[in-house]
Amino acid sequence: MHEASLVQGLLNVAFRAVEEHNAQVDARRAAGDVRAGRKAARITRLTCSLGLLSCVEPQTLTACFELLAEGTPAEGAQLLLTTEPLPCRCEECGAAFELCERRFVCPACGSDALRFHGGHGMTMTGLDVTAEDESDTPTAANEDKHD
Ligand SMILES: [Zn+2]
Repeated sequence: MHEASLVQGLLNVAFRAVEEHNAQVDARRAAGDVRAGRKAARITRLTCSLGLLSCVEPQTLTACFELLAEGTPAEGAQLLLTTEPLPCRCEECGAAFELCERRFVCPACGSDALRFHGGHGMTMTGLDVTAEDESDTPTAANEDKHD
């Protein structure tokens, strides 16, 4: 279950990001900052980039995501996958270029003697959240000062 461990790792990163954000808002509110912003309540969308060589099936990944997100703040979130271009250099003619598909041929000379590093991982590149209910966060502008 390669995909499951990737997805679990991705979710852990997302949850940690939300926790850190919320802790910061708490800290700023505690310091009396009325412009501290709102805490994140739910994750609505996760964007991540997949290495060209990660050998992951997007469908499997999405299915795993839906399963693992169930019962968490990421339940029902959309998973957006992009493929990260892989920087390469041709050993034959020295051309440097980025591969965007798994077709390992030099665009300059047609050689398949390519040198590259990485391309296996999955990285979270974006996180969309919904904020907690606005009414929980009185600001200086909407505070009732008539009583
Ligand atoms: Zn070449």
